[in-house]
Amino acid sequence: MSRKHNFSAGPAAIPTQVLERAQSELLDWQGKGLSIMEMSHRSKEFVSVAQKAEEDFRQLLNIPSNYKVLFLQGGATSQFAMIPLNFARADQRAAYIETGMWSKKSLTEAARYCDMQVIASASDNDYLSVPRQSELILDADLAYLHYASNETVGGLRFDYTPHSGDVPLVVDMSSDILSCQIDVTKYGMIYAGAQKNIGPAGLTVAIIREDLLGKAQSCTPKMYNYDIHAQAGSMSNTPPTFAWYLSGLVFEWLLEQGGVEAIEKVNQRKAEKLYHAIDDGGFYVNRIKPENRSLMNIPFNIHDAALESVFLTQAQDAGLLNLKGHKAAGGMRASIYNAIPESSVDALIEFMNDFAKRNG
Ligand SMILES: *Cc1c(COP(=O)(O)O)cnc(C)c1O
Repeated sequence: MSRKHNFSAGPAAIPTQVLERAQSELLDWQGKGLSIMEMSHRSKEFVSVAQKAEEDFRQLLNIPSNYKVLFLQGGATSQFAMIPLNFARADQRAAYIETGMWSKKSLTEAARYCDMQVIASASDNDYLSVPRQSELILDADLAYLHYASNETVGGLRFDYTPHSGDVPLVVDMSSDILSCQIDVTKYGMIYAGAQKNIGPAGLTVAIIREDLLGKAQSCTPKMYNYDIHAQAGSMSNTPPTFAWYLSGLVFEWLLEQGGVEAIEKVNQRKAEKLYHAIDDGGFYVNRIKPENRSLMNIPFNIHDAALESVFLTQAQDAGLLNLKGHKAAGGMRASIYNAIPESSVDALIEFMNDFAKRNG
């Protein structure tokens, strides 16, 4: 068996130890004679798996008890509609910060369900830096303020948590949740699709402050109502049991690594090395302002753009997979989530240096 270096933006790499553990208990989960995905979600076995996953997740992010943790389906994209439906009246204003493709998708969807207003946009800075706190002028009657902490396509991240006063702060953390320490109490809601930095596709995790629940617009479908999911422990219908289980194994793995505090240091080191390889020598380029450079998704180009397709082909032959940039961005992108070992980043840097030498 040889696992290659996987820089996929999502669905993304999962720690090898987690896959091995899942493999070892796939046919016969803990002596029960069947796999975890063949059990009722209401069985005591699955309920214990589900609860353990939630406990470990709460420990990893230090989530206070007045926040619900929901294990949902429908991807982060469903949240784009659920957020205005649950937290705003149809005629109420909700504020959005626009920093790239994902925040643009979320605000476009929100405009269908509330009075959406873009209060700041990175387009003013060519998407090379995020709007500063001083640009965020908030009226007190806003339903919430929404932003994406890390733009997965553009590789642009917030280097600060926006301060929103009494206006609930809602954040799309799909591509950087669990990558660095956060203060959950600053947020009304945090959400993330699992397939980047948590586990397999099919699961979306939401952390919601309890006082925000129970105010959904009356037209809200039951499956889009956070309060219904919260009251049912995320089991108002059949949840994605296997993805929930596997995410639980990733949480256990992360705790074994020393938790978020420890992985954050590794993530900083990985990103620092890779940006250094991009900046050094003038062969590659990433134009994002240093403090807003993503630690998870690192896009880069070659000054001589004709070499990019050669780079991608040769990288693939060298066992460095999924480095092609998003179709909207072109160039290259290395996604280096928690599960990507430092040795994979080292292998990429070695290849980049060698490629530059051969083609520079
Ligand atoms: C991938 C991604 C999404 C969309 O996730 P789906 O699960 O495909 O709906 C939303 N926001 C961000 C920041 C993402 O990276």
